[in-house]
Amino acid sequence: MLIDLHTHSSCSDGTLSPQQLVQRAACAGVTVLSLTDHDTTAGVQSAQTAAAACGLCLVPGVEISASWRRQDIHVLGLWLDPQADALQAALAGQLKRRRVRIAAMCAKLTRLGLPGAELLAAVEASAATPTRSHLAHALLDQGYVDKLDHAFKKYLNPGRPAHVIAEWPAIDVVVGWIRAAGGVAVLAHPTRYRLSSGARQKLLTEFVAAGGGALEILSGANGAQHAAGCAALAERFGLMGSVGSDFHSPQFAWNPLGRSLKLPDSITPVWHGRLP
Ligand code: AMP
Ligand code: MN
Ligand code: MN
Ligand code: MN
Repeated sequence: MLIDLHTHSSCSDGTLSPQQLVQRAACAGVTVLSLTDHDTTAGVQSAQTAAAACGLCLVPGVEISASWRRQDIHVLGLWLDPQADALQAALAGQLKRRRVRIAAMCAKLTRLGLPGAELLAAVEASAATPTRSHLAHALLDQGYVDKLDHAFKKYLNPGRPAHVIAEWPAIDVVVGWIRAAGGVAVLAHPTRYRLSSGARQKLLTEFVAAGGGALEILSGANGAQHAAGCAALAERFGLMGSVGSDFHSPQFAWNPLGRSLKLPDSITPVWHGRLP
């Protein structure tokens, strides 16, 4: 059983359509897959149709942005009902925040002497749910950087001149949305946040108090070396464990779908009792 519970499609900042993503996952031997696009479940239904056709189990999911101490924190919602009205209303609010933020970043690019309006138009034309990733691609396509990563390092990362701090809802609000839609909340890639170990523990305390259920123990390309530390945190806070590639594109060849992600034996998997 190969399980990958964190992936992106072209409904957010991935490059494959939900159908292509499911087919590629099936070819890679993935048996349980979740589509977890940023702040949207728009791709879940077509992923589900494609999954049924190739005998793969598709877990409906989403990756929701939250703010904690002015930092972006990502919370995965797994096994939720993508049709739940309150969830869709909440995600509509997230989309508005994303549009406002990208426009503010483009305004900053204009002040830096770049054609912000053109860049914004390119993002809006290419993205139903805009992310910094789309803006980075626009900067690359229009020749303002020569590598995608440079767009982040030069302009879009926190502390860089076109960055805008997002006004996402607090963690407890986001966990509440997920639980109200019947899902389990998973704190994504816990080692990717710039937090002291004390702050990380405070974050986990708040996440658990809000009803968070699991910690992503293995995540993408930087999973393995952090697994033991994350497993210890999960045990300490009584959280289940999750695994996911955070796949975005076949072009990022170092981060394929369903890399062999094995959860430490001491951890209760988030899929325990949830698989058919
Ligand atoms: P946002 O949610 O709008 O802040 O966009 C964040 C997304 O940008 C992440 O989910 C990543 O997919 C992408 N991203 C962030 N940093 C980088 C980077 N250095 N190279 C490529 N993609 C990145
Ligand atoms: Mn992304
Ligand atoms: Mn993330
Ligand atoms: Mn992700």
